[in-house]
Amino acid sequence: MATTMMPETEVEKTEKKSGTKYVYFFGGGKADGNGKMKDELGGKGAGLAEMTNAGLPVPPGFTIQTEACREYMRNNSVSVDVDRQMEQALKQLEQLQGQRLGKGENPLLVSVRSGAKFSMPGMMDTILNLGLNDESVEALAKRSNNPRFANDSYRRLIQMFGNVVLDIPKDAFDEVFEAKKKQKKARLDTDLDAKALKEVIEEYKKVVKKHAKRDFPQNPQEQLVMARDAVFRSWQNDRAKHYRRINNISDDLGTAVNVQAMVFGNLGETSGTGVGFTRNPANGNKEFYGEFLLNAQGEDVVSGVRTPVHILELEKLMPAVYNQLREITTRLEKHYKDMQDFEFTIQDGKLYMLQTRNGKRTGLAAVRVALQMVEEGLITKDEAIFRVDPNQLYDFLVPRLDEKGKVEVLAKGLPASPGAAVGQIVFTADEAVAKAGHGKNVPVILVRAETTPEDIHGMEVAKGILTSRGGMTSHAAVVTRGMGKCCVAGAGDIEVNEKAREMRVKGKVFKEGDWISLDGTTGRVIEGRLNTLPPSPDDPEMLKFMSWADPYRTIGVRANADIPRDAIQARAFGAEGIGLCRTEHMFFGEKKIPHMRAMILAKDEKERRVALKKLLPMQREDFIGVFRAMDGFPVTIRTLDPPLHEFLPSREALMVDLATLAYADAKQKKALVEQYHDYGVKAVGDLKKKLPELLKRVEQLHELNPMLGHRGCRLGITYPEITEMQARAIFEAAVAVSRDGVKVHPEVMIPLTSGLKEMANQAAIVRRVADEVFAEKERRVDYLVGTMIELPRAALVADEIAKEAEFFSFGTNDLTQTTMGISRDDFNKVLPTYLELGILKQDPFAVLDREGVGQLVRMATERGRKTRPQLKVGICGEHGGEPSSVEFCYQVGLNYVSCSPFRVLTARLAAAQAAASDKLKVEAGRTK
Ligand code: ADP
Ligand code: MG
Ligand code: MG
Repeated sequence: MATTMMPETEVEKTEKKSGTKYVYFFGGGKADGNGKMKDELGGKGAGLAEMTNAGLPVPPGFTIQTEACREYMRNNSVSVDVDRQMEQALKQLEQLQGQRLGKGENPLLVSVRSGAKFSMPGMMDTILNLGLNDESVEALAKRSNNPRFANDSYRRLIQMFGNVVLDIPKDAFDEVFEAKKKQKKARLDTDLDAKALKEVIEEYKKVVKKHAKRDFPQNPQEQLVMARDAVFRSWQNDRAKHYRRINNISDDLGTAVNVQAMVFGNLGETSGTGVGFTRNPANGNKEFYGEFLLNAQGEDVVSGVRTPVHILELEKLMPAVYNQLREITTRLEKHYKDMQDFEFTIQDGKLYMLQTRNGKRTGLAAVRVALQMVEEGLITKDEAIFRVDPNQLYDFLVPRLDEKGKVEVLAKGLPASPGAAVGQIVFTADEAVAKAGHGKNVPVILVRAETTPEDIHGMEVAKGILTSRGGMTSHAAVVTRGMGKCCVAGAGDIEVNEKAREMRVKGKVFKEGDWISLDGTTGRVIEGRLNTLPPSPDDPEMLKFMSWADPYRTIGVRANADIPRDAIQARAFGAEGIGLCRTEHMFFGEKKIPHMRAMILAKDEKERRVALKKLLPMQREDFIGVFRAMDGFPVTIRTLDPPLHEFLPSREALMVDLATLAYADAKQKKALVEQYHDYGVKAVGDLKKKLPELLKRVEQLHELNPMLGHRGCRLGITYPEITEMQARAIFEAAVAVSRDGVKVHPEVMIPLTSGLKEMANQAAIVRRVADEVFAEKERRVDYLVGTMIELPRAALVADEIAKEAEFFSFGTNDLTQTTMGISRDDFNKVLPTYLELGILKQDPFAVLDREGVGQLVRMATERGRKTRPQLKVGICGEHGGEPSSVEFCYQVGLNYVSCSPFRVLTARLAAAQAAASDKLKVEAGRTK
């Protein structure tokens, strides 16, 4: 019999890794493995072993370890040893149970369950009731005296096996099942009797034959081998891969497979199945939380076919079982010292534990549970600080949906940017502005197939963004995260028709003005208008938690903020200064942009100086606001960086308008005057002269490769009067606020330098203007002049640059672009393939590429400090708020990280965890 376990097609087995223990048994009160062996047994297998060893009621079985999966991925098959050890373990299981797999009067049935090191809920596959066939189903019917149950179990097996192992679409089975229910006028699944289910089984078999071109395998051993391999394969399905990518889990780990004796929750009204948490995973409250269903199996609870009952009801129905469950789960929580998420099944009044793991929870719950457990003496404060994933702190800064009762989930997309948004659907950015802009505060959700930079004005005013295409690094995702705005991206089930202004999902049509609610934390799109709960950045529990973590932190956390409002916000989140204040953003204000444009259009230096003079007081006012908000903390201000054409209309748009002008009517002309007002067009008569002039200037400024063009310090070197004006605004503002007692520490930062001479050129201007201002105002302030390091050459000659630069700040967005030779905006076309093929593990614009870009960061820091030991070094790219990049910055010895205000809390915790894990010698990433 043992030989039948190897299907004949698989005679050529690969070389075995001799001596490897592939299979770990659990049952009869003891297990080969234990709870620490997550690498080998996966979380589920380790949990089953640990529970068995603790004497808890766990159906016996065995775990095939992850090495077998890795072997399967390499060779498309497992070694003979795996098969042998599995046969052995199956024999042991049969003996223990006094049953044989799918044979005899009392056939053994098993589940074949996936389970990786890190839990990936619902991402991989599981098969239940394996061992059933045309014969054993009759034995089961007889033995249980319940033909309905036996046939229901069999049809479930064919369905799961067909889908998971034979790749038959679920719909193919669903159609058969629904047709049968209709035919029998059955409302619920449970209304179908044994006879009807038998008919379903016969038709299921036909479905298998048709799609898989083979019969459903009757041989239980063959079923087992096929199921095992399919579960190994499920490690590589798209869902699982995607989940790993967004959760930073390595593709190389592989899953274990658990083969476990079945217990049945679907034997009748004294049986049932359920899931639960030892505490409330949404808010962390210490309460028994969960759901169960009587007369049901496995997936029924979560699948939504029937509405489950609150777990507290179990106390009334089966008090003894309820008490035992509470006792066991309380013990498990104490044992694991963490909130547990568990699965159980009751068979004929007897309780079985099927799974336990550290439960996933929201940021709010994570903080509360950590605090409670310290109070309860379960964990120490030092342990507590690792119980919250830095990214989860975001939950405190964004609104949440207030979900009372059942909500209608229309679709699930990617949780691209957390938070909640409730509003009326709009399909264009202009419509968003029409409804929500200019003081009209209708809350809107911008729904697009994908967003582009042209949608930015609509994104600004929308409460949230929903896209049907695009991933976690799509335009919508990246931009909304920067804004701290909720976004659900890539909700593929939604069909967006921007032309017809409607979206279709679940057979429903939604038009402009219809209400929907988004949960950016889970990716759910919900029908209708839910209430939201406001953010709680001063939540006392969170502040207490941070007061435990922060003292470990050895590096500073600053914010990137361009305007006083953002600076104030950043301070509230605990930013210790500004690491990047981008002056160009100040020019985009309505009052300022005309002068900025006049400056750019100036024919010569004299004209340019006139325009700059008008900008000076405005810029000074902005700096005053920022300095005041950051009283006592440093503020790094970057001189003008972007290519000037960004402030002008696009060449194409201008050409079109010029062409239209030839035959435009009065109304159109008036519109054009309005449109070009800022460019000196005051009346219709000006159009003919000014538009061609403008086009000429735009063409002069036009660049083939603006990212590598006339920008950064190259602007300040070719137009020194710009740097002069900016330096003057900075120092005049600094002197003014210092007179009022504000402690001001300006740090003037020169962008995009590639060598010492550029740095020296700009630093000389800044220092000269500083001296002028201090002399005029008879007051000095301390300041620094430094540079952004965002070109590989700058990193290479950092020792030279440091002769003039008093600080470095790594602009890792540009540094990544220039080091890897890719443009961030264009990389989205390539990235999915690169991730798919494993050429890249992560988006290098989200997670700092330690291997390449990181080397430059390390080297530039070392070289810079060789010249100037006290050189202050920070980072101000997007990476400054990403936990693993923050950890890297800590390791390299940077003085601070700087990130968007909404990432400040995250960066603080990440920096604290990095330092604490060093000091306490604990592994970081505990929270995964
Ligand atoms: P997931 O990892 O997706 O939760 P599981 O392997 O835990 O998948 O199994 C899916 C469902 O089947 C769960 O509800 C589980 O409790 C149930 N189940 C798994 N194995 C058995 C078994 N041996 N007896 C009864 N139910 C089982
Ligand atoms: Mg499970
Ligand atoms: Mg840059």
